[in-house]
Amino acid sequence: MQSDSTNQIQSFDSVSHFKSLDLGKKLILNQYFEPEYGYGWKIIVENLIKNLTPFKFQLDSIDDSFGILNVQFTLLTQSHEIAILREIHKSLTDSRSTCATCGDLLSKYHASIGRLPKCNNCFKKGVGGTGTWLDKY
Ligand SMILES: [Zn+2]
Repeated sequence: MQSDSTNQIQSFDSVSHFKSLDLGKKLILNQYFEPEYGYGWKIIVENLIKNLTPFKFQLDSIDDSFGILNVQFTLLTQSHEIAILREIHKSLTDSRSTCATCGDLLSKYHASIGRLPKCNNCFKKGVGGTGTWLDKY
């Protein structure tokens, strides 16, 4: 992790980041949609949205509950159900092997439920808090 990116990491705002993404014309957001994820997963979310724009469905939430990228959605039609699920599952899998704080790839697959994956650098430096729900308070 670059030390000059610590500021970017700590000032990262997932709501602003998500607003900057091109959702295309088919993707619908739930009226209560409020994305919540760290700087480290922004590329995963960018790729997810890019791959989902061809499909018509409603995105209900994207957050980092349970230590994974947790994506909830509502199908509006039965078409493309498998393709949508495949993209969402890929983002979930990617989030388990990506530091949620800085975005570095982890050497080990993260399997701790309820704690965000974190690389050794971020862990040693204490960047990004504890990686648990306690960080929200
Ligand atoms: Zn990291």
